[in-house]
Formats: sequence, structure tokens, C-alpha cells
Amino acid sequence: MALRKLIAGNWKMHGTRASLAELDAIVAAAARNAAVDVAICPPFTLIAAAADRAAGVMIGGQDCHVAAKGPHTGCISAEMLADAGATAVIVGHSERRADCHECDADIRAKAEAAFAAGLRAIICVGETEVQRDQGAAGITVGEQLDGSVPPSATAARLVVAYEPVWAIGTGRTPSVEDVAEMHAMIRAKLIDLLGDEGQGVRILYGGSVKPDNAAELLAVADVDGALVGGASLTAAQFVPIIEAGASLG
Ligand code: PEP
Repeated sequence: MALRKLIAGNWKMHGTRASLAELDAIVAAAARNAAVDVAICPPFTLIAAAADRAAGVMIGGQDCHVAAKGPHTGCISAEMLADAGATAVIVGHSERRADCHECDADIRAKAEAAFAAGLRAIICVGETEVQRDQGAAGITVGEQLDGSVPPSATAARLVVAYEPVWAIGTGRTPSVEDVAEMHAMIRAKLIDLLGDEGQGVRILYGGSVKPDNAAELLAVADVDGALVGGASLTAAQFVPIIEAGASLG
């Protein structure tokens, strides 16, 4: 089943108000390429301003706390993201798994918090280079999905992003055969976990997606979009990726 593609940008800890000019150009490109959905996840500080000027583009957070409110200095709840105008949130990015020691149970609780606040959750999974070299990529990703996908997830609320850790920010990508194999495994696992809903969950590929490799990666079966880091920071790089998705319908 071909799903509507989602091209999502993760700005990470990049961007000040000056970056909203890039967002404006991305919003204009999204309007010209209505065959795909487009999302931008800016830093928390830009969410409200971004949501105010991003009609037609989904604005997301890059993380949320599991609680709706409380004594958690420096943290942001899913409810706060929704209040600022976000409609989605990334949870379980490998940088947070590594830097903040987040485990699958944390990520599942964050996804549940996102659903409770009315947000889509983009759950990230992916193996390290050592795990791939050991032949453990599939088992690693399968276990991450078992531990982090809430049983209450629906196709409308959940997006999964397969991001091999060794491909993030390195300019390296898996072969299209390896991407196809992993996405097929993720699809089977989502159906196993969620029944028919698993058929409709979008599975994004992430890790060094650029204008020159986007079309090839987005054409792979069960690649329902891309999660893009570095190349989402400028419209010059991100718009060709949106166009590649739109050209594939
Ligand atoms: C990411 O960190 O989600 C990512 C995909 O980064 P990049 O595109 O820069 O590899």
C-alpha cells in the first residue's frame, strides 16, 4: 500500500529567528508540492513563531517530557508543545538515546504523552555501526520497536523513522537493498504490534538524506518519507528533497 509521503526536517540545536526566512521558503515549496506532507521540527524557542507562519507545514518538537507538568527544570511537555502550535514531536532520536540515556520504555512513555496531548509521535529507531557489523541490525531495531511503540498507537498518530546511527551526519547511507530489507521488517513488526493499523503507519528513512540521493531512497518500497537533519536547515537543500518526494506521488 503506497502511503502519502512525509518529508520531515529536524533542525536539532540550530536556528534563531533569522532562520524563519528559510522556513518561509520551505512553506512556499510545500504549497507547490501538495502531493507530500512536510514537517519541520525547530528548536523549542522557535516553535510558536514557526507555527504562526507555517500554514500547511507541520511543526514539531524534538523531544517532550513524559509528564504534562511538574518540577522538571529545563524540560518541555507535550501539552506545552501543542499549546505553542506544534502538531508532532520526535521521540527517541539516537542523539537523545546517547546524550540523555533514554531507553525504549522512556520513549514509549513520551509517545504516550504525545498522543495524550493530541500530537503525532515520530519514534526514531536504528542500529549502531557495531550492531550492523555484528549482523544485529534487524534484531536491534525490532527490540526498539517492541519496547517503544505504545499499543494505543494508530496510523494517524504514529510515524516511525529508521535512522541508522552510523548514517546520521556522516554522508554515508545504507544500500537501497539494506533500506528495503529494514523497512520491510519494520512494516511486518508494526503489523505484528498494531494489527491493520500497522499497514498505515508511515516509515521514514533518515541518515544523510541529501538532494542527490533523496529520489533513490524515497523510491524504495515502504519508505514513506524522510527524516532529514543537516539538509533541512536551508530551503536550497530541503526543497529538492520535498520535490523528489512529490515527484514519486
Ligand atoms: C537526523 O539526525 O535525524 C538526521 C537524519 O541527520 P542527517 O540528515 O544530518 O544525517
